[in-house]
Amino acid sequence: MRYGFLGLGIMGSRMAARLLRAGFDVTVWNRDAGKCLPLVELGARQCASPKEVAASVDIVFAMVADPQASLDLCFGADGVLAGIGPGSGYVDMSTVDPATSRRIAEAVAAKGARFLEAPVSGTKQPAADGTLVILAAGDRDLYDRSLPAFERMGRLSLHLGDVVGQGAKMKLVVNLVLGTMMEILGESLALGEKCGLAGDQILQVLAEGAMANPMFRVKGPMILTGDTTTSFPLKHMEKDLRLTLQLSRELEQDLPVAAAVHAVFGKALAEGYGDRDIAAVVRSL
Ligand code: NAP
Repeated sequence: MRYGFLGLGIMGSRMAARLLRAGFDVTVWNRDAGKCLPLVELGARQCASPKEVAASVDIVFAMVADPQASLDLCFGADGVLAGIGPGSGYVDMSTVDPATSRRIAEAVAAKGARFLEAPVSGTKQPAADGTLVILAAGDRDLYDRSLPAFERMGRLSLHLGDVVGQGAKMKLVVNLVLGTMMEILGESLALGEKCGLAGDQILQVLAEGAMANPMFRVKGPMILTGDTTTSFPLKHMEKDLRLTLQLSRELEQDLPVAAAVHAVFGKALAEGYGDRDIAAVVRSL
């Protein structure tokens, strides 16, 4: 099986490296071609366009920033659609809205190829360790054929049905919790500081109670030390919450807290924290 990997940012570079270290045949492309080099050093072949990758492999994985990036990758002049054909598959693992996913699925199907959306839960370290949770929906046969690769990238993969869009929805539903937890931890520490409480003792109390969770254990100390080394860029969290609110409007489901949390991430983005980790949201509180 020949695999392609498009989009070698924080997540894609580590996911593609997992495949290469497992001995898989992988061809890579990234808009900034310089990011291909570490993967080439691990044994990847490099192509000059998504079209070339799609024309030369069996299954193409993509992991890019947002809906516009996914659309560019697929529909661009030298995009995936220009290279893909019957017998091959396209698996977009980016976090996008359901409508974007469906639009890509229809275009891929019109070329006689198969499509699966497969956004992931987990961040930089789980991507490096191969412990992501993969939230797939779409073509079942392509899912089955992608499983050997999913098993290298994740510790769990779910097929959420044949209806494209369900994977995107699951991802947005889950990230709503992540964004809210991140923001409320920042609020709690900000108030605690004004009360004259020690931040590390607030974290200790949280860690000993029913609210203990791995995210607070990682992000809490980052907030206290001002470490904003990026695992999950803040701009992507703002995007996810924006897409979640869009979905909530379509489905007429009020999300009052999500709207408030999105406004805080939007403010942090406007203040220039977009490329910093989501923990930097505390800076705008
Ligand atoms: P990232 O480091 O910002 O990388 C973004 C990637 O998208 C880069 O390869 C970038 O190419 C590419 N890209 C952006 N616009 C493009 C365009 N118009 N055409 C082609 N390529 C384009 O982001 P990331 O953290 O890896 O996240 C990737 C996706 O995974 C996002 O949808 C994000 O929401 C999701 N996600 C992230 C995490 C996390 O913790 N980081 C966790 C789960 C899911 P260049 O290198 O040329 O800029």
